[in-house]
Amino acid sequence: MKLKKIVSVLLVAACVFSLAACGSKKDSGESEDGGKADKLVMATNAEFPPYEYHEGDEIVGIDAEIAEAIAEELGMELEIEDMAFDSIIPAVTAGKADIGVAGMTVTEDRKESVDFSEPYATATQVVIVKEDSDIAGPDDLVGKKVGVQLGTTGDICASDIEDATVEQYNKGFEAVQALTQGKIDAVVIDGQPAKEFVKEAEGLKILDEAFTEEEYAIAIAKDNTELKDQINDALAKLKDSGKLDEIIGKYIKADAE
Ligand code: GLN
Repeated sequence: MKLKKIVSVLLVAACVFSLAACGSKKDSGESEDGGKADKLVMATNAEFPPYEYHEGDEIVGIDAEIAEAIAEELGMELEIEDMAFDSIIPAVTAGKADIGVAGMTVTEDRKESVDFSEPYATATQVVIVKEDSDIAGPDDLVGKKVGVQLGTTGDICASDIEDATVEQYNKGFEAVQALTQGKIDAVVIDGQPAKEFVKEAEGLKILDEAFTEEEYAIAIAKDNTELKDQINDALAKLKDSGKLDEIIGKYIKADAE
């Protein structure tokens, strides 16, 4: 009888101990399933400088740093998953990623699949052409061959242009290369990456007249209001402390260039 009691006490103790061990592991950002707990998984497409791009083995850029700062605020560890741009929202809705941070424009269409945080940046869609092009503004794109990155707002914009042929590329830079090679007449893409790509290429320019004004925000699964609130709180802190401006300023120099 006595022995039985001792055994059961020991068993209870062992259980409590293992629970405690589990708890403390979780707190340190690890868990038995290989470390999913306390990780903030960010889906992105690291082909979009200065927001996200490869530098050696690392993914760097404004979004990577903002997400890192948010993860720090939340006491979580950031993990970045690089994928095609049009896989980001499906990854978030399927729960494979917690957040989509990819210079992603808030659109009504996307809002049907995901929720968005408060915006953290504004952007425009611009037109890149060859320096000697006779295309002087968005209106001149009628009937032209226009390159875009698949599934982006540039893609949506271009498909509204009358009689234009839209060529979709997996990477924005590939569209710019096609333009350099004379395969297409123009590229419609976000303003900041446009500047980066034009800097790298030869004989290209960005037209002064922009297409649209947009806002970038972080995509979060629709049922995850807790995370959305946490992210908005963290973003507000980063805005108030000046950290957000500091990160953006590190990658985007005042409009002198
Ligand atoms: N801002 C554009 C969009 O949301 C492009 C984003 C991107 O290519 N990373 O569609």
